Amino acid sequence: MTRHWGLTLVVCLAGCGFSSVEQRNIDTALNAGVKATQRNEFSEILSAVFAHDSPATPIIARYAEDGLFRSDQVQPWRPWGMMFSSATASTAPGSATTGLNVWKLDRRVPAVANTLVHERAHSFGFLHRCGETRAANLCDVAYVAGDLAEALSSHSCPGEPVCPALAAELQKRGLVKDCPQAREACCDP
Ligand SMILES: [Zn+2]
Repeated sequence: MTRHWGLTLVVCLAGCGFSSVEQRNIDTALNAGVKATQRNEFSEILSAVFAHDSPATPIIARYAEDGLFRSDQVQPWRPWGMMFSSATASTAPGSATTGLNVWKLDRRVPAVANTLVHERAHSFGFLHRCGETRAANLCDVAYVAGDLAEALSSHSCPGEPVCPALAAELQKRGLVKDCPQAREACCDP
């Protein structure tokens, strides 16, 4: 029994797929993310927020050119100990695929869409400049793109405070009301 379990675990770590329920929820979130990123407001608001940030420009263009992940490019991520991690996903910079933390899938569809749009920035080669926390990188193109997709999908503010420049654009266009804003943070001096 123990040996059997061990073999199953090793096989699953190497590549078990999502359950049918998980796959259906991911495909629903992907669909929501695709719809959000194809809206005119997605590129318009990103262009407005990053008007003076030239490193963000090619990432914004890639969303328009290449779109979001295909369903088969979204894979389960089950590394050891992830049950206790707050990370929702992992994407190697430039990789065509992303890994979703299977322990963090029980979230609202627009929140999972947020994660997928965020991870797509990494698959386009984007790296956070200030470590890995949301708080320190809130106004970079990956976090703003993900939060924007969530706002467009849900017609409401994301559950956590967003970049002030994004909140201003969403509110100016009447897309959301009273979006909680975080203090803009960055590790740069
Ligand atoms: Zn990230």
